[in-house]
Formats: sequence, C-alpha cells, structure tokens
Amino acid sequence: MRTIDSLGDLAGKKVFVRSDFNVPLDADRNITDDGRIRAALPTLKRLTEAGARVVVAAHLGRPKGQVNPDFSLAPVAKRLCELLGKEVVLATDTVGEDAKAKVASLNDGELVLLENVRFDARETSQVDEEREALAKEYAALADAYVSDGFGVVHRKQASVYDIAKILPSAAGELVFKEIDSLSRATSNPQRPYTVVLGGSKVSDKLGVIDNLIEVADRLLIGGGMAYTFLKAKGYEIGTSLLEADQVETAKEYIAKATERGVELLLPIDTVIAPKFAADSPASVVDADAMPADQMGLDIGPKTGKLYAKAIAESKTIVWNGPMGVFEFEAFAAGTKAVAQAMQDGDGFSIVGGGDSAAAVRNLGFDESKFSHISTGGGASLEFLEGKVLPGIAVLED
Ligand code: ADP
Ligand code: MG
Repeated sequence: MRTIDSLGDLAGKKVFVRSDFNVPLDADRNITDDGRIRAALPTLKRLTEAGARVVVAAHLGRPKGQVNPDFSLAPVAKRLCELLGKEVVLATDTVGEDAKAKVASLNDGELVLLENVRFDARETSQVDEEREALAKEYAALADAYVSDGFGVVHRKQASVYDIAKILPSAAGELVFKEIDSLSRATSNPQRPYTVVLGGSKVSDKLGVIDNLIEVADRLLIGGGMAYTFLKAKGYEIGTSLLEADQVETAKEYIAKATERGVELLLPIDTVIAPKFAADSPASVVDADAMPADQMGLDIGPKTGKLYAKAIAESKTIVWNGPMGVFEFEAFAAGTKAVAQAMQDGDGFSIVGGGDSAAAVRNLGFDESKFSHISTGGGASLEFLEGKVLPGIAVLED
C-alpha cells in the first residue's frame, strides 16, 4: 500500500484528502462523540505541516444525494478548527463555484473543508461513469489524493475509489494504522488467537465467523447471537433474541469448530429478565436452566470469568459485538468483563464495530490500553472476513 511518503515533496501542492467525519449528532446538532475527527488529525497535521494546500472531503449522515442543510459539515468544521488549532474554511458546496474559489485562494499549509460529498448523488452511484465524472471534478481541485476515511474504504465511491485512479494517490496515517493493526489478526497472528463475538445478530456476523473459524484458536460467543447457538444445542432460551433461520448454521459452526479443533465457548450462565427494559428485574441462571417466560440480556458472571481468563491467556484478541445490552447498567457486566480483560492483558487487542467501540468509551475504559480501536464498523469486519476492500486495493495497484 502506497503511503504519504510516496507522494514526494508536498510543499505548495494541493492534496485532496478523504476523511471520515461521520460523527453522531444530538437534536441540536452538537457532536456527541468526536472520535473520528480526532482520528483524522495525524494526516491533516502532517500535510499542513509539510506545506500542502489541503482540500478535505467527507460525508455526514445520509442526505441521499440532495443538498440538505441538516447534514451540513458545519459542526465538523467548527470542531476540527478547535482540535487542529487552526482555521478551517468550509466551502458552501462540494465541487461548485465556492469550492473552486476557496481552493484557489489557499496558501501553503492551509486547509479547506468541502461540503458533504453525499449532497451529490454521483458520489455513491452504482453507475461507474457517474462516479467517474464526479471524481474528475474532485481531481481538478488537486495534485494528489490521500485516502484516510477508513470507515468508507469498503465502498466503491467517487471520493474513495474513483479519484484514486486519476491522481497520484496514497493511504493516509489512519488508513495505514488501521490496516497495519487489523493485519495482525489476519496474517500470522500471534497465538493463542481468540475472537470474541457478540452483538445482536448471528446473521450480521456470518462472514466473520466463517473466516475466523479457519484461523482462530478460540471463539467466544456472547450477546444476542449466543441464544441462537444455545438453541442449536437444544437448550430452552425463553423469549431471548432468536434467529430461527440461523439455528442450522449455528449447528454447522459448532460442528466445524470441533472438527478443526477450535475451542468454541458459549455462555454457561446468563442474566435474564422478564422484558427488554433498563429496570426489568434481573437474575442469573445457568445457561441450561432458562425459564420459558424470560429473556437473556447479558452473559452471566461465571461466563464473564471464563471469557476473561481465555482473553488473558491470549496473544491476539479480536472483539466485535457487546456481550449484553450494555446500554442498560443492569446488563453491562459481561461487556465490562471482556473490556477489562482486554485492557489488562498483554496480548494484541483489537476492538472492531461501532457499538463495541462506543461501549469501551462509554463504560469508562481507557482507550489507550487497547492496542487498536477501529474507527470503521463495516470496513473492519469486511477486512477481518478476508474481503478485498476497493478503497484499499486501489492504493496497491
Ligand atoms: P457492533 O456495532 O459492535 O458490531 P452490533 O451492532 O452487532 O455491535 O450489536 C450491538 C447491539 O447488540 C447493542 O445495541 C446491544 O444492546 C445488543 N445486544 C447485545 N446483547 C443482546 C441481547 N442479549 N439481546 C438483545 N440485544 C443485545
Ligand atoms: Mg452496531
């Protein structure tokens, strides 16, 4: 993968950077988690310090190809300005007159943010020619391209993929770090290698399970998907989340794990409650003793200890998907146990998935104690599944 070094001396050059600024906003359009903006800083600092004239492109939300002020990047421009400690000019359009004028008036080391790239339907078009036409307009604004929006590199989009084919292009600091870290789990991982999977659905994670069951030494299953596996073992799971059409698949995974000598661990106890609510009275039962009228909302304390021990013994750990409904305090203990073990252990620890990363931050863990917290949900999963990411492949040709 080409890096920024391959672009040579950048002083005075116009560099088009794709960043991922798709941050959550509250009803008053205040940014509630600026993690993605902070993750974009190393590249932007490096380029401005090298004297480049930086043109930054990003999307926010789903404006569906229409100009819509509700999805303006204005809150991002403000926050970026605070974090960079330098002026960030926001163009009122993406490739229109204002963008062109503002790019033309940039001095060395200055930065302009273009308005939301998804205001233009061509950005995400399925028609190659439409995306390519937009990419040409982006390319006309700059001399080189840096891909740094890791959250979008699994998408074939004009500002991610097509532009990289037109301009001299390279991976930015964030994309490089993401690929470098995630590769530790896909090529020659240090063993024992443990994968912890949770979250709501088995069907969301089939690709990852398929791929990782071939390479991991241990698979720890929790979260909502665990109940489909427990059902596959013939247990009563009450009113827990169940994907009836995935029970057969779960059985196949259990068989495949045995066949391959992969240790597949399922919850041995579980926290149950009568309904899906923060104040629903919780109790703990063994996994094979769930009452018919209650639902499992977290792994139990014995399972938490078992999983923590497996993590502590591992040299590589990939975690995707919370162990329970961590948004409710009463059902957060399992997720905390896994996060704590990853934080305390000395293995290489990777957290992927939007909700898992949010859990780490919101439950008060120290992000710096994890080896890598990915900024990309879908992109990190697809990478771990072994898929080719178009936005990465295009930087390798
Ligand atoms: P990620 O974004 O990290 O990939 P997912 O989106 O797959 O994770 O899943 C996260 C969601 O799964 C959380 O909102 C959590 O509340 C939910 N969840 C976890 N355990 C359960 C459970 N036992 N029942 C229902 N939902 C669950
Ligand atoms: Mg999610």
